[in-house]
Amino acid sequence: MTINILPPDVATQIAAGEVIERPASVVKELVENALDAGATSITVELEQGGKRLLRISDNGWGIASDQVELAFHRHATSKITSVHDLDRIETLGFRGEALASVASVSRTSVITRASYETMGTRLQLEAGMVTGQEVIGSPQGTIITVENLFFNVPARLKFLKKEATERKHVSALISRYAMAYPHVRFRLVMEGREALQTPGSSDLRDVLIQVYGIETVSQMIPVELIPDSTPRADLHPVGVIGYAGLPGLNRSNRSQITLFVNGRWIQDSSLTYAVVQAYHTMLMVGRYPVAVAMLTIPPEEVDVNVHPAKSEVRFRRPDVVFSGLQRAVRHALVDQAPPPSLDTGVRWGSPDWAARRERLTQVTGDRLSQLGLNVEMDDPGQYGQQAAAPEEDFQEQAPKRKRSLPMLRVIGQVGATYIVAEGPQGLYLIDQHAAHERILYEQFMAERQGQAVVSQELLEPITVDLSPEHLALIEENAEDLYAVGFQVELFGGNTARLRALPALVAQADPADALMAALGDIECGEMPTEATAEEKLISRVCKQAAIKAGQVLSTSEMQALIRQLEQCQAPQTCPHGRPTMLHISADQLAKEFGRLGAI
Ligand code: ADP
Ligand code: MG
Repeated sequence: MTINILPPDVATQIAAGEVIERPASVVKELVENALDAGATSITVELEQGGKRLLRISDNGWGIASDQVELAFHRHATSKITSVHDLDRIETLGFRGEALASVASVSRTSVITRASYETMGTRLQLEAGMVTGQEVIGSPQGTIITVENLFFNVPARLKFLKKEATERKHVSALISRYAMAYPHVRFRLVMEGREALQTPGSSDLRDVLIQVYGIETVSQMIPVELIPDSTPRADLHPVGVIGYAGLPGLNRSNRSQITLFVNGRWIQDSSLTYAVVQAYHTMLMVGRYPVAVAMLTIPPEEVDVNVHPAKSEVRFRRPDVVFSGLQRAVRHALVDQAPPPSLDTGVRWGSPDWAARRERLTQVTGDRLSQLGLNVEMDDPGQYGQQAAAPEEDFQEQAPKRKRSLPMLRVIGQVGATYIVAEGPQGLYLIDQHAAHERILYEQFMAERQGQAVVSQELLEPITVDLSPEHLALIEENAEDLYAVGFQVELFGGNTARLRALPALVAQADPADALMAALGDIECGEMPTEATAEEKLISRVCKQAAIKAGQVLSTSEMQALIRQLEQCQAPQTCPHGRPTMLHISADQLAKEFGRLGAI
């Protein structure tokens, strides 16, 4: 057998296979080109799920007439010139493969005019071969039409899904670009019907309203983390902007956590987990938040050169990115999330919410002082000083953290289970048992943070048989394992020798404990963290002295509420169930028909 170099058209078609899988991949490449060309308006049209026709029109800077044909060659790009540029990529494309790939598996035509030229160019290709070129009048920008995708690659055509599925992929894709580029006007027309149109107002919230609807967006709060720009920028190079759903807005899977890095949509299970972690103890098990986060990271901190079609990136310091994102979302929730409201009218965060709150606080405040009631109660209680300890990072970042609960005045108890209290914004019903669980949980967590890790030696070291993956995990994470109290070493072959365990899991079977810790590491957690917390939560629940059905004195109730006020996340118990319900003064007034009368 002789070895041959493949002819260019065959090589191009093979390369195309990697980048162009389905209509949505064509749309992705062409929309990225439009964005790279500075477009502020992009229209995507498709027919028959994109199999018959796809058209992407933009008002970017266009392609000069003498370069149009060149653009369709493999490795033809205007975006990088040398290998050094690979370290600092600031455009979405850079491989110079997309146009060549798309053209090689379809009938493609382009009409384009560069801003400085008076006449435009029209170029037609079929299976990658130029079939016509002419000078024509056209608006500035580029219109690329891709017809009969995969007409010459029947194997691939066969693998396309139902038209509806392909449409879903395209519309999800356009929604994501619209979020990442809120200053760009996106219009998606599928089978002649407009499916999405964003205003290009530069406001992410406007895009989210088009994508999710106002009802959902009114239950989301802004997230913001400003990257550290001090000379020691290495400290916090991560910036975050976005919206996070209030805990009440949740889903049964993680699909509504949408992440971008430097304008690119990414899929990253560890960062998704960072968002979920931020809702820790605020959501019930098996429920996941809705969130959109745009991360900005200096280009040299991230490698986007992983795979052309896959939405993965590599970070130089993944832990810094993880904690930046988690902190940003957590901050937003801790600072801004109000207790769940019984008021079904105005949702927290809806446009007129701030104005209403302002008016209400004022009105209610005036009233209360007329009545001689002291709204700002004194003496935060002893717990006040202690409670500042947990998650000191938060404290440092937000020195003037807003209270997540207003000062409350106890009115009484209902059914020996719920405390009735009043605050400047209305009536609060507090589940005494859930509230006590939250208080104990945060106290224990604060205590535990200050504690040194205790390791307990086994009477006799044991050997454990492990898979090569797990052995590799042990090798890579030896330090972390040691830090939490495991003393384990590779013993040759497929075994590891275990000498000591964290005291926390000392009762467990040592091999099981090690496997659990390795499982934690695989999920991106510190080993034993999950186990430790689970134990803590169940301990808290057993210990929670205050049960439902227990009559409390006024001073006991007051003390409980004082402590709850000091909690980081007072609105839920550690299992994510609400500790309180809120009926706003507004709701009360409305129910009593007094709203106009105030
Ligand atoms: P890449 O985007 O990686 O450079 P492509 O094959 O996607 O490679 O595009 C090749 C070149 O064609 C680009 O570098 C750019 O100069 C030009 N180009 C493609 N699409 C457009 C567009 N919509 N507007 C302006 N120029 C474009
Ligand atoms: Mg490109």
